[in-house]
Amino acid sequence: MVSRVIPVEPFDLVIFGGTGDLAKRKILPGLYRRFIAGQMPANSQIVGAARADLDTDGYRALARAAIEEFVAKDKQDEAQIAAFLATLNYTSIDATGINGWSALRTLMRPGMVSAFYFSVAPSLFGAIAERLHEHGIANPDSRIVVEKPFGRDLATAKALNAVLADHFTEGQIYRIDHYLGKETVQNLMAVRFANILFEPIWKAQYIDNVQITVGETVGVEGRGAYYDKSGAMRDMVQNHMMQLLCLIAMEPPYKFDPNAVRDEKLKVIRALDPVQPADIVRGQYLAGGGQGGYIEHSENPASKTESYIAMKVGISNWRWMGTPFYLRTGKRLRSRASEIAVTFKAPPHSIFGMSDSMHENVLVIRLQPDEGMTLTVMIKEPGPGGMRLTEVPLDMSFAEALGADHADVPDAYERLIMDVIRGNQTLFMRGDEVEAAWAWTDPIIQGWEARGDKPKGYDPGSAGPDDALMLLHRDGRRWRDIR
Ligand code: NAD
Repeated sequence: MVSRVIPVEPFDLVIFGGTGDLAKRKILPGLYRRFIAGQMPANSQIVGAARADLDTDGYRALARAAIEEFVAKDKQDEAQIAAFLATLNYTSIDATGINGWSALRTLMRPGMVSAFYFSVAPSLFGAIAERLHEHGIANPDSRIVVEKPFGRDLATAKALNAVLADHFTEGQIYRIDHYLGKETVQNLMAVRFANILFEPIWKAQYIDNVQITVGETVGVEGRGAYYDKSGAMRDMVQNHMMQLLCLIAMEPPYKFDPNAVRDEKLKVIRALDPVQPADIVRGQYLAGGGQGGYIEHSENPASKTESYIAMKVGISNWRWMGTPFYLRTGKRLRSRASEIAVTFKAPPHSIFGMSDSMHENVLVIRLQPDEGMTLTVMIKEPGPGGMRLTEVPLDMSFAEALGADHADVPDAYERLIMDVIRGNQTLFMRGDEVEAAWAWTDPIIQGWEARGDKPKGYDPGSAGPDDALMLLHRDGRRWRDIR
């Protein structure tokens, strides 16, 4: 199978915050990888715009160091690196002042696709949007890209949307949730809507429960003070897990079109039930294995912020009434594994009279470590001895199924940046989606704050607090064992 790389139109991409951590770790290496894949034309221009007093050579040196650190060694080719660096320019800029803006205007080339990546703190979004207009740098076709966190509650998200809407239309705003750029996540849509097999049984009548797990083995060390103001609910559930839930639960859009897809996701968010306190378990990792616990890492001895959350979520619509969605995510867990598991109901009657050995079919969509899908089916255990059933996986690892070409599949950031240039918003969150997600999240967080809710401690390297097991046990279910 040969993967096709279709070059995008040449573009001018300005990275505000172009010297920052995100630019160095993700944006510049991602652009380089698209460049060597032949997708980014050489007459494109990338402009770093940040506070540091650098010249273009200085910025190219910074970008080279980022490529050397964050791009796989076998992709580092001196001629390619030099050609890529030749597309880079830099202007030092004051987001809240006047310096640098006319220099930036002179660098922009009329008639080119132009995009502005706001890789800076959200508090600067308004100032930058305003100056892009004031100085005639943006045009009605320009795109702007913004990163999470998009607000910390409904009020702040609305304020950010309003600030951007003062200068840009919704069709120009690309809110990144990098989970949507993951290959498997998009495959979820392909599996659902390009096959006849699943969709007819994709409903409460046939699906017993859905489990979404995002597990991390790392803690919050190094960024504890930042994380402490956020917590798992804001950092992971409101955005990434919500997006995964939407893609599983949404109705088929009439077309694979940005607004058609986003309309359907929005309907799911609006149909989410409020979550009762008894349906949530919050946790905080303890010290262990020679490392400090969350309290030490957050440098806040009184912290009540959760580094783990498990919850049961209901969706009140015809398709999903009665099928629980169980979500869990946490730091310093046993394994770095993320998956969506859709467990179907057992057949209504066993003609084999072996109910103990009747297992349900499970469709597992793995996001990491190795992206792929598995469907477990029941077959007859081979050999003599009568009719005994056994469970076998129909396994599809993308790396194996797609062979060497898979190695060139762009990572989430690369794909999303190229979608910005192509002007395709399907994999970006619309403003009303983000607000609806916060409208659902806010009362949950406010409830914890009002009650002074304290997360339960859990051992590092474990599966989270014991109470999370009860969340499913009391429904007669179990979390899937994830290693
Ligand atoms: P950073 O602190 O490493 O970099 C900030 C950048 O903004 C620097 O280039 C700095 O020069 C520039 N800047 C700050 N004030 C400025 C001003 N007044 N005028 C002009 N430039 C100014 O931050 P980061 O980690 O790169 O994060 C950038 C944004 O992306 C943040 O909103 C962050 O929440 C978000 N984000 C970051 C990551 C990540 O992995 N780093 C992941 C997801 C989202």
